[in-house]
Amino acid sequence: MSESLKVRSRAVIPGGVNSPVRAFKSVGGEPLFAERAEGAYLYTRDGRKLLDFCLSFGPMILGHADPDVVAAVQDAATRGTSYAVTTEAEIEMAELLTGAIPVMEKVRLVNSGTEAVMTALRLARGVTGRRKILKFSGCYHGHTDGMLVQAGSGVAGIASASSAGVTAECAADTLVAPFNDFNAAEAMVLEHGEDLAAIVVEPIAANMGLVLPTPKYLLHLRELTQRAGALLIFDEVITGFRLNFGAFANVCCAKPDLITLGKIIGGGLPIGAVGGRADLMDQLAPDGPVYQAGTLSGNPLCVAAGLATLRKLKALDPYATLAARCARFTDALKEIAREKGVEVSIPRDGSLFSCFFRSSEPRNFEEVMDSDSAAFVKMFHGLLERGVYLPPSAFETGFLSISHDDPVLDQALDAWRGAWS
Ligand SMILES: *Cc1c(COP(=O)(O)O)cnc(C)c1O
Repeated sequence: MSESLKVRSRAVIPGGVNSPVRAFKSVGGEPLFAERAEGAYLYTRDGRKLLDFCLSFGPMILGHADPDVVAAVQDAATRGTSYAVTTEAEIEMAELLTGAIPVMEKVRLVNSGTEAVMTALRLARGVTGRRKILKFSGCYHGHTDGMLVQAGSGVAGIASASSAGVTAECAADTLVAPFNDFNAAEAMVLEHGEDLAAIVVEPIAANMGLVLPTPKYLLHLRELTQRAGALLIFDEVITGFRLNFGAFANVCCAKPDLITLGKIIGGGLPIGAVGGRADLMDQLAPDGPVYQAGTLSGNPLCVAAGLATLRKLKALDPYATLAARCARFTDALKEIAREKGVEVSIPRDGSLFSCFFRSSEPRNFEEVMDSDSAAFVKMFHGLLERGVYLPPSAFETGFLSISHDDPVLDQALDAWRGAWS
């Protein structure tokens, strides 16, 4: 079955996929074809039942096909799937987001995390009248031109394009520094401060595997931006409503000017959001000069799925339970690794975790790259054979949902024992 789907998909879809990581290039082997998913499990077209730690790269914190989310979407669909006229549900969604995230005084809904960051960057440039953005190696902010860059060859942080089709001019407006390096960020802000519109950062980096910020690093970025008259943007597309009911900014000593959201707030339907200080947000069209728009923005199905997800998260308040399960699970993984003599470091935060085949937890992208990638590929396939699906890349983070309870996680631990023997 999947052989014929593979042939058909490759004939009409570039690479056979609608987003590159799904093609399994970095782990090799055959990409998956999904049939359906429920709770902690993904069912494939060739009849396999996989315990899912990828969870659509993060949105499915309630597990797949949560009955309340499904009912909300079905109900909304009967009243029409798009109006391009404001609904009360959009207002409720904005009230819920601004209520849960104090620095988010106003918020606009968009269609993806990529769009949210694109809008935040345009807004930062619009209000400061400056052109440059500082980002960090290994942090992902969607696939707009200016964010598809890598650290340049030493020339004062000026980036080079990491994708064909991105112009050198566009890349040159982005600066790239190593994550968690206090001096590198300071040096760049000193050199480019007058041109700097914003620093954008994943406060908990989760797109190079999981890399936690060192103490006071985010506060350092806050002080640097304040001194330079630039904005601080937290890209919380993964961390929003993942670690607590709200943003990581809620519990962080540094408060950003703008926050981007996505993934969880759409409950598995396409959505993004950008929000922050009201005086900044009011610079967006129609009241302000910074243009932004979207035919399907605030789409009633997406908003219904998002509201149902967020209301359920608020009612269940699962965050302490998720973190405790993830702690027990990753502690057990470390124990198995010790028994089997596998050199691996396993950082975790809340319901996020990743496995780096190196002796210590990486603090930046360079250290991430200095891991044994062959060992990751071997673990990935060893687990897949045993019915456990990790995100198909060493640079992605693993996710737990509320359906990943202790018995489910014990099943995963058995698979790891097998994969590491
Ligand atoms: C997933 C992600 C994005 C992009 O979101 P899309 O919905 O895939 O466009 C941006 N930033 C971060 C931190 C992400 O994890």
